[in-house]
Amino acid sequence: MATHRSHQVPVLVGKRFAVVDPATGEPFDEAPDQHPDELDAVVGRAHAAWHTWRADPGARTTALLGAADAVEVAGADLAPLLTREQGKPLAESYQEIARTAARLRYFAELTAPQSQPITDGRPVRGEVRWRPLGPVAAIIPWNFPLQLASAKFAPALAAGNTMVLKPSPFTPLATRLLGSVVAAALPDDVLTIVTGHEPLGARLASHPGIRHVTFTGSITTGQAVARGAAASLARVTLELGGNDAAILLEDVEVERIADRLFWAAFRNCGQVCMAVKRVYAPARLYSHVVEALAQRAKAVVVGAGLDPDTQLGPVNNAPQLGRVESYTAQAVAEGARVVAGGRRLDRPGYFFAPTILADVPPDSPVVTEEQFGPVVPVLPYGSLDEAVEAANGTNFGLGGSVWGSDLDRAEAVAERLECGTAWINHHAELSLAQPFAGSKRSGVGVAGGSWGLYGNLRPFVVHRPQEEA
Ligand code: NAD
Repeated sequence: MATHRSHQVPVLVGKRFAVVDPATGEPFDEAPDQHPDELDAVVGRAHAAWHTWRADPGARTTALLGAADAVEVAGADLAPLLTREQGKPLAESYQEIARTAARLRYFAELTAPQSQPITDGRPVRGEVRWRPLGPVAAIIPWNFPLQLASAKFAPALAAGNTMVLKPSPFTPLATRLLGSVVAAALPDDVLTIVTGHEPLGARLASHPGIRHVTFTGSITTGQAVARGAAASLARVTLELGGNDAAILLEDVEVERIADRLFWAAFRNCGQVCMAVKRVYAPARLYSHVVEALAQRAKAVVVGAGLDPDTQLGPVNNAPQLGRVESYTAQAVAEGARVVAGGRRLDRPGYFFAPTILADVPPDSPVVTEEQFGPVVPVLPYGSLDEAVEAANGTNFGLGGSVWGSDLDRAEAVAERLECGTAWINHHAELSLAQPFAGSKRSGVGVAGGSWGLYGNLRPFVVHRPQEEA
């Protein structure tokens, strides 16, 4: 197992900002509030480091495999810190770290071909040679800080780029620690983490030294990032919000799938881009589905992520809790019925009871927008066409799922969903080897698998005449 130089986070002087534990609502630590003017030097160093890093694919593989080992060794430090600032149960933090190490290994070993011949019948020998882009900027949200950081840096670095990555100010600490663990296994300045408030992200996205901006977050911020990157015409990859529908078919066995469906909606407190955010049930099964989900919502153990009994942690931050409360209140004002939850818990921290809403007007924002929290509306449908039309009837198109006993029939319905990934009888499971791309406003560009690697490369073509015989 490779060792890393050190994973001590360097102590910086200067301004710092408080990081809040969502289980208490109180600050528990601080992170550096870096000034956007620091980016010139940071991006400059990333550019200088790129010239060596890009040159030797074998050395990259070895270094990234060493980084994966180092992440696992650091798991016992990373997991509690992640839970403390993000809120998720500790076991899920460990899963996130395992996934981070696995992704590093996957991309370390996934190499693009050195060259590919082009044959089109002309007397020219053409060859594509894949080239890295240069310094890449990554900006990520607070729901899966480590997993999403690695989704950015593993393919970018494997492709021969360097990276400057900015986590959310709600979750800077575990990402800084991860960054120092990974960076210690790599040459200097190949990966740099910067932390701070806006306009740090905006300045990073529009920095003239950046060749590719890869962003994960909300649609509105994604649009701002794309506008910023347009200044230097940097390439842009956007992984944005989702409002995934789950369509239950007439032949679904409700009790058999209810646990899976519930956790597909509520894992990480519903703060998953591709969580189930709306459930469509046939009118005949409607009450049964509502009741099955409500029973589970009432039984779930909600608490601090560090408590070993906890199944569901708090919402990550106060503005997000406010959004969840206001979507719920508006739906209730419009006639929705609260079948489980529906309110904040009477304790410190950002806890919201797991909530199932029935009889929700289909144009209520909790249905048409992304609630990104522990609240799920269940809607009845008459005909299957109606259900598919409703599922496709938003600007989002990240994922969707179809649940039923006849798998061929379910797959035929899944084919009709306008989204990047459609699941049958489950939801939100991804393979490292698959392309991950939203349709409509859920994203631009492709991450994951070899598509993710090529997204960090550019084709460079050499033409030369065939040798004369
Ligand atoms: P957000 O858009 O508010 O913030 C995302 C990041 O952008 C943060 O680091 C933030 O500090 C930064 N940022 C804010 N303003 C910026 C600006 N003007 N320029 C550049 N950067 C800026 O999103 P959030 O609330 O942190 O995360 C939740 C959203 O992320 C949800 O919509 C969720 O669906 C989405 N998400 C998508 C995926 C995916 O793969 N499609 C994965 C996870 C989360």
